[in-house]
Amino acid sequence: MFQVAIYGKGGIGKSTMAANISFSLASRGKKVMQVGCDPKHDSTRLLLGGRAQTTVLDYVRTTPVFRRKLEDVVETGSGGVICAEAGGPEPGIGCAGRGILTTFDTLKKLGADSMDVDVKIYDVLGDVVCGGFAVPLRGEYADAVILVTSGEFMSMYAANNIMKGLSNFDTGKPRVLGMILNSRGVDGEEESVRRFAVAAGIPVIAVIPRDDAFRDAEANGHTVREMHPESEISKRVDEIASMIADAADGKRGLFYPKPLDDLQLSDLAAGREIRPGTGAPADRIQCPGCGRRTTIRDTRIMNSCAAYGALSAFMRITDFTVVLHGPRSCMYLMDMSHEGSSLQLHSRGLYDFPPRHNLVCTMMDDSVSIFGGVRMLEECLEKTLDGGADKVAVVTTCMPGIIGDDTARVVEKASAAHPGAMIIHMPTDGDVAGEYGDGVKMAVESILGMIDNSVESEEGFVNLVGTSFFDIHSRRYADEVDRMLAVFGEKVNCRFLDEMTYDTLVNYCRASVDILVSDVPANRELMGMITERTGRKPFQASLPVGMREYAEWMRLMGARTGRSEDAEREIAAARKEYEECVRRRRRRFEGRKVIVISRMNRSSDWLVDLLLDLGAKIVRLGCFPSPRKDGTDALSRYIGMLTENYSIDMLEDDMDRLSPDLLICDLIYPVRNGCRFARIGKAGIGLRGVLDYAEYLENILRLPATDGWREAVR
Ligand code: SF4
Repeated sequence: MFQVAIYGKGGIGKSTMAANISFSLASRGKKVMQVGCDPKHDSTRLLLGGRAQTTVLDYVRTTPVFRRKLEDVVETGSGGVICAEAGGPEPGIGCAGRGILTTFDTLKKLGADSMDVDVKIYDVLGDVVCGGFAVPLRGEYADAVILVTSGEFMSMYAANNIMKGLSNFDTGKPRVLGMILNSRGVDGEEESVRRFAVAAGIPVIAVIPRDDAFRDAEANGHTVREMHPESEISKRVDEIASMIADAADGKRGLFYPKPLDDLQLSDLAAGREIRPGTGAPADRIQCPGCGRRTTIRDTRIMNSCAAYGALSAFMRITDFTVVLHGPRSCMYLMDMSHEGSSLQLHSRGLYDFPPRHNLVCTMMDDSVSIFGGVRMLEECLEKTLDGGADKVAVVTTCMPGIIGDDTARVVEKASAAHPGAMIIHMPTDGDVAGEYGDGVKMAVESILGMIDNSVESEEGFVNLVGTSFFDIHSRRYADEVDRMLAVFGEKVNCRFLDEMTYDTLVNYCRASVDILVSDVPANRELMGMITERTGRKPFQASLPVGMREYAEWMRLMGARTGRSEDAEREIAAARKEYEECVRRRRRRFEGRKVIVISRMNRSSDWLVDLLLDLGAKIVRLGCFPSPRKDGTDALSRYIGMLTENYSIDMLEDDMDRLSPDLLICDLIYPVRNGCRFARIGKAGIGLRGVLDYAEYLENILRLPATDGWREAVR
């Protein structure tokens, strides 16, 4: 099957042209299907005797999935042309571009791809304003593209945009058949279009004269090609059909367009000679060997989306309800990734245990994404508030952002109707507001506004700031932190962004000091924002990991609270326990070769100390560059033995050359040759953390050198 996308600015006559071409191809014996992709849904009208057919999107909206049938959305028109219309939402509501994707998807699912068709014609609105309208330009849909234009500047401007869109879906093969001038009778029209075509490097394949035959045929609900087969217009249409047939048979070449840049367009508009273009955009290169063009993409890792970041931040406030405005898939992914969270599926009750956190999702589906989701959000918010929630954060995903749901207005209305409730609007729009960290930041700025700066501080209370890659979420390490603080008669007031209530948040300033949970860039940034908002000075050391850090931290806390003697007593007891732990395990580590690879934004000093105390031989200490956009620097006492900018290739090499007994790494890596693997992220906080980690490493070393099950299945 050969697929042709006919693009043209709205009102330029591309639907009339598409219907005429389809009929002409059918008259040559081709089996043709025409799919109208303009929300105006009048593409196939001339093939159906002037009648409008059921659009796919209306059908999808009103028909349950299990009742849908292909014959409900396709009709056979003049010449046996199979007709389908996408349809679309009312102007200004929803997303017509998304509707095109849904139409294609629905037709495919209903079996349209297996119909006996030689040529498929897509009639597409040429105002390519978003990715949806560009879908028919994708390689899997368009083998060839025809541009319909008049001599009016805006029409050529639209055609130029289509060529730009086309280069974004470069398949490595030329795909433009040419340009059709559908004359409007404008002065110098043909000359303008020909100048444009030459500058863009594509041919004008037909000039369609202005003719009353169009009006006559349309008034009767037919194509000119059918009603006036001998007319001049029909001859031109037949020539175009013949070119399509030749292109399908490989007898006619297609072209790479060179869309005009802004300066060239200004020349075109002014009727001047069009200056030479600047060539391909900077991020597109041509391989000198095969000539294939490709796009260089930004390879920076995005750590999930801003919507997820904002959701995660608000879900840490246990008496807040998060209303996620988006599809179920977003909620599912976000909730699955959110440690310790539980689901409350909107109106479905899939999980009926009392949720620790309250996450509600509007469950946008395909039809909502096309026709707009404001009403859905209104209903969900109303239900949540009526259900007793009085603190709500509305977080928006990509879909409402793309289709332009006015979520701010919904929140405004709900706030007016529920004056006692606090409703916070988080328009992250998925990844439009940035990546995960940007979403967290956006939420934190809002959350910080809830702190009452006038609350007096009291001795005996501390705040913990930040989340940790160490396992602070587990009760065991929360207990360890409580135990460490109890040495000085202190307890936790607020765990900022880690299991806090609205009340502890408002009374954040009640604590006499703020302590960083772990010294990583994200937490430092969080502390900086708190300092800016409250004017409070943080404690000079983060919660410790490792024996040495533990002793230092205890001394600093002793000095701060005037209880240095208690600190020294605790250090002595801890050291005894640590040394006993090391003595018991040392025989298993002595002389063992270990590779430790961490990320540059995390200190591994505690681990190096532990391994050296255990008698292990560290043959490589490496640092992967951090994938995060923010800082990657970490201070280390072992900077002299550190290999910076370590890579997987280097690890491959080290694994062969150094033959380690144990690899300890941030990333899961398939070890071989009897080497064991352990993860750094398993470490906990405080003395307990390092003792547990030593036991974890010992257990790893006790594992058999080869996996028995692997041997068994060989
Ligand atoms: S990027 Fe968009 S689609 Fe993906 S999870 Fe985030 S909100 Fe959902």
